[in-house]
Amino acid sequence: MCVKIFSNIIDRSREPVKYFAMEIDADSIPQVVVRDFGEVVRVETSSSAPSVIIVCEHASNRIPAHLNALGVTDEVLQSHVAWDPGALGVAQALLRRMPGVLVAGGVSRLVYDCNRPPDAHSAVPMKSEIYAIPGNAGLDVGARTDRVESVYRPFSRALSKQIETFSGSLAAMVTVHSFTPVFHGEARSVELGLLHGRDDRLALDMLAQRPDPAPYSIRLNEPYAASDGVAHTLDRQGVANALPNVMLEIRNDLIREPAEQEEMASFLAPWIDASVVNLAHSKGSA
Ligand SMILES: [Zn+2]
Repeated sequence: MCVKIFSNIIDRSREPVKYFAMEIDADSIPQVVVRDFGEVVRVETSSSAPSVIIVCEHASNRIPAHLNALGVTDEVLQSHVAWDPGALGVAQALLRRMPGVLVAGGVSRLVYDCNRPPDAHSAVPMKSEIYAIPGNAGLDVGARTDRVESVYRPFSRALSKQIETFSGSLAAMVTVHSFTPVFHGEARSVELGLLHGRDDRLALDMLAQRPDPAPYSIRLNEPYAASDGVAHTLDRQGVANALPNVMLEIRNDLIREPAEQEEMASFLAPWIDASVVNLAHSKGSA
């Protein structure tokens, strides 16, 4: 069975966005509009031969209406608890600067955290930082399975599909996240974290090639590391497909406004590109 979906193409010169329809095997794409979860994943491309797949699992703070905001306040929904503020803007600005494909989540991580496997408690958190999430308390197996099948599986399948589709040109995976400047009352001085999972090549190469002097405080595996359970996408999708990969964690006070997101992407794009090329060369000469 085939269904028609719309793919959003962004021209690198920032021409008006073009849309086209294409037919794809329904079994291999996210089941868009399953129950009332709406658009749980969104794909954008800036090239027919992307070299980088950009992933933004925590792009959205949308909560499907039938979940009644999970019982949290609007203040919580606007905060880092529900999503990564600014991360999607940076990811899209990166996409405009490099031949890439972007896979972005379409619902809040409070509904399901797409950077967590289904068996992780934190995939459907009952508490986030200091906030209780009433709508996630006491979920029965059916309700939890519903989240997995309606959010995680479509997101994961869409990501796998893009990696498969562009396997001939993709050379790296970059996941884009943001973090709060103050966590549990503690100020964080790190501004940009390079995190890795089982494959540390891209993170280490970027660290070695970081601009000097760098305009940001850049650190390896801060403010999180794989031991915090944040390397799920990197390992499951990047390592499994032999794509060098890195997770970027950007302090969200640096990317609040679109102009700041553009500035961050302008800093990141040539740096990422240089390391991707570097790794491709070292692979070729090995
Ligand atoms: Zn995140």
